[in-house]
Amino acid sequence: MSIKKNLLEIKSSLPENVTLVAVSKTKPVSDLMEAYEAGQRIFGENKIQEMAEKFEQMPKDIEWHMIGHVQTNKVKFMASFVRLVHGVDSLKLLEEINKQALKNNRVIDCLLQIHIAEEETKFGLNETELNDLLQSEIFKKLQNIKITGLMGMATFTDNQEQIKKEFLHLKSIFNSLAPTQKSENCNLKTLSMGMSGDYQLAIDCGSTMVRIGSSIFGTR
Ligand SMILES: *Cc1c(COP(=O)(O)O)cnc(C)c1O
Repeated sequence: MSIKKNLLEIKSSLPENVTLVAVSKTKPVSDLMEAYEAGQRIFGENKIQEMAEKFEQMPKDIEWHMIGHVQTNKVKFMASFVRLVHGVDSLKLLEEINKQALKNNRVIDCLLQIHIAEEETKFGLNETELNDLLQSEIFKKLQNIKITGLMGMATFTDNQEQIKKEFLHLKSIFNSLAPTQKSENCNLKTLSMGMSGDYQLAIDCGSTMVRIGSSIFGTR
């Protein structure tokens, strides 16, 4: 079982409009390099420190995506290079990302994470919180972040009907907001949903970005 083979197989199965984020958390740089050499340029990590270390060691044409929960006090360690932050779920975090992006003289793309799963433990905004955030005066003034889409994680279950219901719910939120929320710092184009176990279903439900780890790099 090779990383290259896994990667190419998955890539060839994805529709053209779906972006693959290779989730490389916990894996050594040598594994990431194998994927890089097979053409992969987008990598997702869930710990800022680990992502920063890999960024230092790897070629500079890689897009680094932060897919995990972000602690406000760690934003500064990724602000100079991170390409997309998937898990933004509070205005406070968005303000910190904006502040650190400004220090680095750049605009950082972000996805708002929406809570679609049944589990209490999964992070994310509910619809009221999402609307409050987008309508807030503070948000409207942030010039060094851009909301480019939404992200969600389905419940960890074998029940395909439930997963499908949750993905379709996120897709419907996306569809209703995308045309109405266009502004200088908000233009919803990306819908990040789907992992190794459920990405085909996610694509059927409208995903445009899948985050795949174990099916490429093996179990963690
Ligand atoms: C780990 C992780 C993934 C990838 O999970 P796999 O099941 O290994 O594909 C996707 N999204 C997030 C947010 C993750 O933390």
